Amino acid sequence: MGSDHRIVRCARVSFARDTHADEFRDKKLIRYLFKHKHASPFEHNVIAFRQRKDEWLSLLSQIDNPTLQVYYSKGYVFLNLRNAINLWGKLPDEVREKVKEQFPATYYIVQRKGEVSDEELKQLSYSRDEAYVKEKIETTSGWIGLVDKLEIGTDMDYYTFVVECPLFVARQWMRHRFGSYNEVSKRYVGTEFLEFYLPEYIRKQAKSNKQASVDEAIEESGKFIEEIRNLIENAKDLYRRIIEREGAKELARGVLPQFMKTRFYWTVPRISLDNFITLRTHEGAQKEIREFAQAIKEMVGYRGTDKKNVI
Ligand SMILES: Cc1cc2nc3c(=O)[nH]c(=O)nc-3n(C[C@H](O)[C@H](O)[C@H](O)COP(=O)(O)OP(=O)(O)OC[C@H]3O[C@@H](n4cnc5c(N)ncnc54)[C@H](O)[C@@H]3O)c2cc1C
Repeated sequence: MGSDHRIVRCARVSFARDTHADEFRDKKLIRYLFKHKHASPFEHNVIAFRQRKDEWLSLLSQIDNPTLQVYYSKGYVFLNLRNAINLWGKLPDEVREKVKEQFPATYYIVQRKGEVSDEELKQLSYSRDEAYVKEKIETTSGWIGLVDKLEIGTDMDYYTFVVECPLFVARQWMRHRFGSYNEVSKRYVGTEFLEFYLPEYIRKQAKSNKQASVDEAIEESGKFIEEIRNLIENAKDLYRRIIEREGAKELARGVLPQFMKTRFYWTVPRISLDNFITLRTHEGAQKEIREFAQAIKEMVGYRGTDKKNVI
């Protein structure tokens, strides 16, 4: 699952330019990411291959690297590209061949330890994603797209999504640690990506559950929504003025309310995805994130693999 292009998309989301493609610049970016150890975009690319568990464990036992995350399920080893690069010299030849086939430009750059000239880069084959997303579902606060999946019927099948949602939803989402994330950075991105979620109405606080809401508008909801709209407009105006005066984006962003939208890539194994669906479709979860969990369930289903864990 993945391509040379996927690495670039997950890196460029920092600049909210993940739809941008330019093959030569893309290859230069991969070389840059590799040489400067900007490693997280490589994690959204996963290969699976058959290997006996004892053979694989004996190979891993030769490596003293506690940061490796390598998963094994039903006779398959699941390896993301970051881990593959960290294991490079130890990988069986057929696995390196698989990497070469799927990520031809990255393979060459890694093989040459990043020492590749621009002229050589131009000649390299390059693998691309066929589409930005395979499927997309809108929710009331944003949207989610299925970028890719690697489904072979194990608990470690992998999925990549791209999500646009308000900050407070992203904050809840990223508590799910068992997966990889790359997100827009408001240290880079200014007014060119400045969108906000404005709810239709203000829901009532639930009495039975301190953290939940009931789906019913409070009195004067319309008036409050109007005030929120004004607050957002005022915040945007202040933000723009700070940036126009060459204020640092990393500080100016502090004035933007939590209704602001962010965009991120999420690559997650099935067992963690099912855990997300269980926890976030539950009625105790916030409505906005519940809608996303429901959308994921519609796109790729729920298999109950998380039930194997006691807690
Ligand atoms: C309704 C609701 C309310 C919440 N309220 C709060 C809150 O008030 N404050 C707050 O901080 N969080 C809150 N959370 C977040 C919650 O505590 C979890 O962090 C979040 O749901 C992610 O779940 P997880 O740890 O199972 O998932 P992941 O982090 O994706 O982990 C997946 C699985 O991997 C294993 N795992 C991961 N890391 C470890 C580890 N370090 N040790 C052992 N096993 C591990 C576990 O089996 C886990 O289920 C809330 C969540 C929900 C759904």
